[in-house]
Amino acid sequence: MRFDIFTLFPEVCETYLQTGILEKARQHNLVEFHMHNIRDWTYDRHHTTDDMPYGGGGGMVMKPEPIFAAVESVLGSPPTCPVILMSPQGRRFNHKIAEDLSRLPHIALLCGRYEGVDERVVEHLVNDQISVGDYVLSGGELPALSIVDAVTRLIPGALGDPDGAWDDSHASGLLEYPHYTRPPEFRGWKVPEILLSGNHAAINRWRREQSLLRTFLQRPDLLQAQSLSATDQKALDQLKKSLDLPNENIPDNV
Ligand code: SAM
Repeated sequence: MRFDIFTLFPEVCETYLQTGILEKARQHNLVEFHMHNIRDWTYDRHHTTDDMPYGGGGGMVMKPEPIFAAVESVLGSPPTCPVILMSPQGRRFNHKIAEDLSRLPHIALLCGRYEGVDERVVEHLVNDQISVGDYVLSGGELPALSIVDAVTRLIPGALGDPDGAWDDSHASGLLEYPHYTRPPEFRGWKVPEILLSGNHAAINRWRREQSLLRTFLQRPDLLQAQSLSATDQKALDQLKKSLDLPNENIPDNV
């Protein structure tokens, strides 16, 4: 899969893209990252990429000409792949969107700065807008990296463990079970006995139950969106009963 990232600050992204799973995926030719500095498509003496907003008000707005020139010179006109603007006004990014994007051969991510981009970029160049959450960051680079990372993890072969992405939180609609590693006891806190038992069927059952329990406790909204099997529902009911919580903390509609 190919990612083209258009930004005024490519250096912000480079180290992250060259680290860990993203770098390994690139080395195995599963992904290609192409960074483009929008400033390279400015033709005035000062390499201007932003200007004051029409109508007044504070802040600067990213000019349309360098953005159109950058995207069209790299991707053609019209662009040969979806061009996604990073924006707090976009649809909120989640696992499902990451999965959908991971099936595409090529996407482009456009990072805004300042007050954002001239609206004609939104109307006539981009096909989609994605937000990473209901808060405002100073630039689209972190959102773009979040998308590249989440999408790359879902490309078959990108994770060493073939089940890795499927086990992760959100992939199955639940949060993942807790993890422990050596030592078996740290400051008197012991690893749950079952994980040391070598009984893989029992471990899998325990993990499933823990997954249900922590989703119930930490993200009951996710559980509400699930249709649980009879076995899961029974396990969850038992876990709910065993909880030592005041009644008002236990939602009973999941
Ligand atoms: N004035 C804009 C608004 O209120 O909608 C916010 C501009 S923000 C300071 C600058 C850039 O950061 C945006 O153009 C966008 O590319 C990026 N950005 C900020 N918050 C974001 C978010 N939650 N999700 C995705 N991109 C975001």
